[in-house]
Amino acid sequence: MTDLEKSHFEVAGIWEPENWHAADLERMDETIRVIPEGASSLLDAGCGNGLFLKRLAQLRPDIPRIHGADRSSTALQHVTCDHTQTEINAMPFADQSFEVVSALQVLEHLPGGVFEQCLAELARITRRYILISVPFQEDLERNLIGCPSCRSRFSPYHHVRSFSRGSLASLFETHGFQPCLVDGLGETETLRGWRTLREFFSGKALGVNPYPFEIPCPMCAARLEPSHQIMDHAEPRPASHALHRIRRGIKRVWPKERTPTRLLALFESTTCRS
Ligand SMILES: [Zn+2]
Repeated sequence: MTDLEKSHFEVAGIWEPENWHAADLERMDETIRVIPEGASSLLDAGCGNGLFLKRLAQLRPDIPRIHGADRSSTALQHVTCDHTQTEINAMPFADQSFEVVSALQVLEHLPGGVFEQCLAELARITRRYILISVPFQEDLERNLIGCPSCRSRFSPYHHVRSFSRGSLASLFETHGFQPCLVDGLGETETLRGWRTLREFFSGKALGVNPYPFEIPCPMCAARLEPSHQIMDHAEPRPASHALHRIRRGIKRVWPKERTPTRLLALFESTTCRS
């Protein structure tokens, strides 16, 4: 990870709770529901702004010890429970020191080397369960955005790997963990082939900054303005209202498909670790 990539995770807007949506909170609740009853402790590795831990404390007061770990000091300013600033591939926790170790929306960010070290760390620190969530079969190439200054293409979310149900299920095989559950999380309805069609007609395959705040390009550090500002500045076209109604009508009858936005997996140690 370059210094510029690291700086992405210090962008304050990413961690502002008001930039998180209701769908994020619903997915957190779904995730919390799979944590086994009677769990005595949980470490959330890559806890970000700690919203998951905050929600966990509300919904599962029966878990007496919860702890957050993240590399970003900007993110950790929001975390209200016990937490540690640390790299995820070398965490300062003893072997088997938490009954559950979670890494939610973390693994897709990790480059080769760091990724394998992180899996080993999660397996080392947990006493019994590992809880993982990642984006559902993300098309990394398609989600790239273009920097208007240096013309490089990059993932605005800094995602570098993609997971299927199969690749997720076998993630901890060599560490002695088997999946108890691998499931879709947070279903969304999409229009089948709509995006391909739209890209074909607009001739534009690259998206724009999806965040409501500026983000730095990881190659040249140019600031990419928020997408909503681009839209705000655009002059409304006279035909836009009629076009909007036609587009809405087409979308209503267009074939749709439901896909999960994330994958959620719970792994249990196959060896007795009392
Ligand atoms: Zn650039």
